[in-house]
Amino acid sequence: MGSVQVDGLIKKYNDVTALKNVNIDIKEGEFFALLGPSGCGKTTTMRCIAGFENPTAGNIYINNKVVNKIPANKRNCGMVFQSYALFPHYNVFENVAYGLTVRDFNTGSFGKKVSSFARLMSKRLAKPTKEIEKKVMEVLEYVELGHLAERGVNELSGGQQQRVALARALVLEPSVLLMDEPLSNLDKKLRNTMRTTIRRIQQEVGITTIFVTHDQEEAMSMADRVAVMKEGEIIQNATPTELYSNPSSAFVADFVGSSNIFDGEVVKSTKQETVVKINEWTLKSTHTTDKNEVKVLIRPEGIDIASENSLVAEGNVLEGKVILHTYLGPNIRYDVKVGELEFSIEHVFVPGEPILTSGETVKVSVDPERVLLL
Ligand code: ATP
Repeated sequence: MGSVQVDGLIKKYNDVTALKNVNIDIKEGEFFALLGPSGCGKTTTMRCIAGFENPTAGNIYINNKVVNKIPANKRNCGMVFQSYALFPHYNVFENVAYGLTVRDFNTGSFGKKVSSFARLMSKRLAKPTKEIEKKVMEVLEYVELGHLAERGVNELSGGQQQRVALARALVLEPSVLLMDEPLSNLDKKLRNTMRTTIRRIQQEVGITTIFVTHDQEEAMSMADRVAVMKEGEIIQNATPTELYSNPSSAFVADFVGSSNIFDGEVVKSTKQETVVKINEWTLKSTHTTDKNEVKVLIRPEGIDIASENSLVAEGNVLEGKVILHTYLGPNIRYDVKVGELEFSIEHVFVPGEPILTSGETVKVSVDPERVLLL
């Protein structure tokens, strides 16, 4: 198990500043996600931690020791990549055993430093010991691939290949597991299954994990903590629930879930409530602000909807017209126009309840507690 700290990390590539001032503190056993749009610096942060990039400034600590000068292969980090990076001519067992046989060869009975050529050849030279065999099979059982140990990796599905890559990293018992977009090559259904598999294994093994992704659902469903990055900086670092219910900016709000975001003008703000004007509409919020102009954020599930003659939950009640309904299984999403404003509303589908259709006049009610002011 390992803790990881990143302190004042700056990385420049000539005139490109990939990382401006990144600070992270990851506890032992934590599952930490780096989330953000393409080019925000997620992979660069990961590569600096792994030792594949030298920071321009700042320190990386693993288990409270500065590792800036320690080469990648001595940092005890396991890596899993989007591309799997398996050895195509080896079978599942050999792929997973490789790292252990090389390590055995390097430090075992030969007892002296071997050349890199010899190291490359070690797979052929070094036969896995009984101990290695046992360990590899144990890890393969963990990722539910024990029965495919003899299979060539090219004869596996994408999900199975990714589990081989995970087993190959885990078998070396690294302090930290680094995963860079590991699920991006998989189809949606498999991605969902793999999320659960990775999370289950991570919790069982208790390994500190850093997971890079641009997929908010992935980060939010898997991680204990998520750092949202933008343009080389971490702009919020919080638990998934904090991020969702208390985003620090409209960017984070938008990135970690669908939102209704409007420009609002503050009419008055007391300790109990704020009154905010959006176009001709006035909404109450139980949140306070010291700003005159705010971004008003309302999550789609924070709004109730009912036909014009039915009862709607108490709150900021407005009248509008349905422009679209989308059936999503457990929920129905309604797009509703209120004057010039467009609200996206997520309504729990109750079997038997009539679905509101396009053109219907409806009442919408926004819970003041769900009116966030950013
Ligand atoms: P993606 O999700 O697309 O992989 P990312 O968030 O991982 O993106 P990085 O790959 O870390 O982003 O890149 C951050 C910035 O640094 C980008 O502007 C990128 O173009 C730049 N960059 C990354 N590697 C290099 C390099 N070797 N040379 C020059 N610029 C680089």
